[in-house]
Amino acid sequence: MHPGPPSPRALSDLSCEELGAWLAGLGFKASHAEAVIRRLLRPSGPGTASGTRMPATLQARLQSSFAAEAAHPAMRQVSEDGTTKLLLRLHDGRTVESVLMPDYHDDRAAGCISSQVGCAMACDFCATTQTGFERNLTSGEIIEQFLHLQIEARAAGRTLRTIVFMGMGEPMLNLKNVIAAVKRIADPRLGAFGWRQITVSTVGIVPGMDELREAGLGVHLAVSLHAPDDRTRADILPMGRRFPVRDVLAAADRYQADSGRITTIQYCLLEGVNDSLEQARELARLLNGRRMHVNLLRYNPTGLSLRGRTYAPSSMEQTDAFLAELRACGTVAHLRRARGPDIDAACGQLRKRQPPESQSPVMADRQGK
Ligand code: SF4
Repeated sequence: MHPGPPSPRALSDLSCEELGAWLAGLGFKASHAEAVIRRLLRPSGPGTASGTRMPATLQARLQSSFAAEAAHPAMRQVSEDGTTKLLLRLHDGRTVESVLMPDYHDDRAAGCISSQVGCAMACDFCATTQTGFERNLTSGEIIEQFLHLQIEARAAGRTLRTIVFMGMGEPMLNLKNVIAAVKRIADPRLGAFGWRQITVSTVGIVPGMDELREAGLGVHLAVSLHAPDDRTRADILPMGRRFPVRDVLAAADRYQADSGRITTIQYCLLEGVNDSLEQARELARLLNGRRMHVNLLRYNPTGLSLRGRTYAPSSMEQTDAFLAELRACGTVAHLRRARGPDIDAACGQLRKRQPPESQSPVMADRQGK
């Protein structure tokens, strides 16, 4: 089958420099580029530069030359706790998930953003990886997730205060586009977000962690460790065979030393797998002398795993005991509340049950809003 002409790029895919060069090539002032992208990143959502004061011929040219958007909401679920999960459809019909989570503060929210369609990392407890890896997201597709989450937050009477690259995909394997998106989202000239409000998460891809450090963005780093020892870690995270715990933490040390940002250690508690008190003590020993925080996560069951296992979340009693043991050993640790237990809140779940493309757009809202 002939693939047909490539889809036009969306404006959100262009940096100021790229857009400036494009404008200059058409005889327009390159300085319009900053205004166009600032307008795009203002919290009024993705689209072209309508509303920006600039020549009508330029606006018309932008509208005819670029796709109106790179990602369009195809499905939406809202949990009773206010967590909102969006399924965004991309120009090629593929889909990605983004999640908005209400903060403890009534007026704030946090967003979770995807970096890839699917994932090749094969973490055994994750739903995303069960459909494999399809492709990297463009910088525009990443930015538009951010814009849609801003819209969702505003509709809920909140402000999007932080975003974390912890949705579908491994950000370090699409680092070029993640960095390009972050640079635009956090560019002070464009007036959107601050570097400190952004966290990039990784399953522990050491070269990517070093590349992010060398980029010098000053964003936060989160490492999904999930086990303190290589044997348990490699059993649930295949990447653990390639990058042992020692090397991952050494890369986190380097990142922390250069950026001055405290690294977060993500640890998803799985019943009978990584939740013993001995494992809590081992984790605390590893982090002794390091200024890192542990974020304990409650597992959202996703059914049968890649390797045919069924994982269960640790009981609340065991979770509390694990947290207490970490703290007793001097580790700074917190328990993240489970989000959206009544919707497909785990990464990749909503996408797995998406309707055929022909049925979209669908607004599936369990609260019937
Ligand atoms: S947990 Fe993250 S890195 Fe691991 S398979 Fe899922 S999406 Fe990929």
